[in-house]
Amino acid sequence: MINVTKAFLPPLDDYVQYLEGLWASGWITNNGVLVQELESKLREYLDVPHIQYMSNGTVALQVALKALDITGEVITTPFSYVATTTSILWEKCKPVFVDIEDKTFCIDADKIEAAITKKTTAILATHVYGNPCDVEFIEKIAKKYNLKVIYDAAHAFASNLDGQSVLQQGDAATLSLHATKLFHSVEGGAVIFKHKADYLKAKQLINFGFNAQQFPEFVGINAKMSEMHAAMGLCVLEHIEHITSWRRKLAKRYTELLEPVK
Ligand SMILES: *Cc1c(COP(=O)(O)O)cnc(C)c1O
Repeated sequence: MINVTKAFLPPLDDYVQYLEGLWASGWITNNGVLVQELESKLREYLDVPHIQYMSNGTVALQVALKALDITGEVITTPFSYVATTTSILWEKCKPVFVDIEDKTFCIDADKIEAAITKKTTAILATHVYGNPCDVEFIEKIAKKYNLKVIYDAAHAFASNLDGQSVLQQGDAATLSLHATKLFHSVEGGAVIFKHKADYLKAKQLINFGFNAQQFPEFVGINAKMSEMHAAMGLCVLEHIEHITSWRRKLAKRYTELLEPVK
């Protein structure tokens, strides 16, 4: 069998070392030390101000929509993973599809304005295969019509734009840290927020809506991550430069070999 993609597995001993620590402490979930360590390492590596780690990339989209109070119509792309659209439906909003560009496969920003109605509250676009959307133009439209912008950045963990992580773009950007993605923690996801207040809301949303007094302030969900998952993330993050350069090498080779049939 030829795999389309294969999960990166770190040296087993590295993972076992983390497990020994967990067996010693007995603290295996509920915002444990490894979850906190992974969040802080990701914040630094991605150079983003506010990042919330959670159970998968689908719930990350849902939490982003919920934290930003998105209702009504959401302009989105028909070319993405199924979760981009279903997260909108799950939040009882209406997806409004806008066609994609043939070069990047991302939403065609020139066609967004024509799809805006009085009910539109947000744009949810995917950075397809790590190609950044036309973030500047989308930002301009969002400002003009007072819309929120969410990027499904599941493919864009290592994507830069003018030397900065593309994850800094939008009111929120979501990551999937599933085993098949560039960087993973077996299962996992994250939301990066522009504003601290949205991040603090997401922190509560993924923990039943609990506030600091363990009182449910609003309706939340359980999307917390375990220490076992965070440990895998910490192990894989050690190898991220290698994983990224290996993928670049493979992509280059495909591009070269497929050049004659372009
Ligand atoms: C993988 C992926 C998701 C879903 O992530 P899960 O972690 O599997 O829930 C969402 N959007 C895109 C574009 C993806 O590639």
